[in-house]
Amino acid sequence: MSQPPPRRKRTRPSNIEGDAPSSNRTTDLRDEDRIQALVKDAEFWFEDGSIILIAGDVVFRVYKGVLASASPVFADMFSLPTPGPRPAVDGCPVVNLQDSADDVRRLLRLVMPKNGACVLEDLNMLDISAGVRLGHKYQMDTVVKRLAARLGQYYTKHWAGWRDPSRSSFPECLRGTAAIAVVNIARLTDELWLLPAALFECLELPTLALLSGFKRGDGTVEHLSHEDLARCIDARPIVKRDEIISAIDYVFDYDLKKCANDDSDRCYATLHALQQDPGFLYHDYQPYRDFTQRKHSWSKRVRPSLCGGCYHAVVEREEEGCKLFFKNLPVYFGLEIRAWGKV
Ligand SMILES: [Zn+2]
Repeated sequence: MSQPPPRRKRTRPSNIEGDAPSSNRTTDLRDEDRIQALVKDAEFWFEDGSIILIAGDVVFRVYKGVLASASPVFADMFSLPTPGPRPAVDGCPVVNLQDSADDVRRLLRLVMPKNGACVLEDLNMLDISAGVRLGHKYQMDTVVKRLAARLGQYYTKHWAGWRDPSRSSFPECLRGTAAIAVVNIARLTDELWLLPAALFECLELPTLALLSGFKRGDGTVEHLSHEDLARCIDARPIVKRDEIISAIDYVFDYDLKKCANDDSDRCYATLHALQQDPGFLYHDYQPYRDFTQRKHSWSKRVRPSLCGGCYHAVVEREEEGCKLFFKNLPVYFGLEIRAWGKV
């Protein structure tokens, strides 16, 4: 049985205000006045709640015990007599957070879902981004691990996952520019195995989209670090080059002597025609893309013209190229990922 990871040293995040010295803290009365002036969150304001959270101009009233059980940071804060949150409004301690209200709301949906269960498959990237960033900050390790595992269904480190046709049905909202947030999540949480597939997704973005970043739910925009941006830009031409080399290796160099068909000239002519078609090399042949999409591009076109033996042989060779690419995927970005590419 594996041992649980050592718990990180508990620290009070600097953005949680507990009791402050009386000289620079508000009074209970001022807390009440202040809360009255704020917007009560429509989703997370429970009349019997036991803790008040303030984020931006929104105030939440939720359950202290649930928060404490999910987060050792909150648990420690609630357990400390001084400094700690003090009774302020209706007997509820008040905690001022520096996080955006949108982030806090999305985190609360994960920690205390109103319909009784949080369905991972229903989460969009705004939810996952907020959940991971705040989950990491408040040491909600289970939340962070579950969200990273959800991302790992697409941003996989396993060959079997990469080639799984179901990968192409992963929600669009978790792909494209969302990959920028995934890269940053990998960096923040040290889940570095997410990086190669996420950086590859970024590499395929139009340059303007890559530079424009990912817009969070609260309207702020996050970008790749300069280092990760450089990794994508530098890798682009090398990936394209290697795709072309792969085409030559696995399709054009296919040994037609293996053709068992009497009409092997027809197979030769088909492959030769591909060789003469620049569009094939630059657009159609995509051994590095999604497995299902590949099967519907060039191979579909040549399927009627090649004999069955040659068709399957060439498709198999294309998959060999894809497997080799996946094995080397971290290398394109100058990364070394432990246990990368295992089944
Ligand atoms: Zn043939």
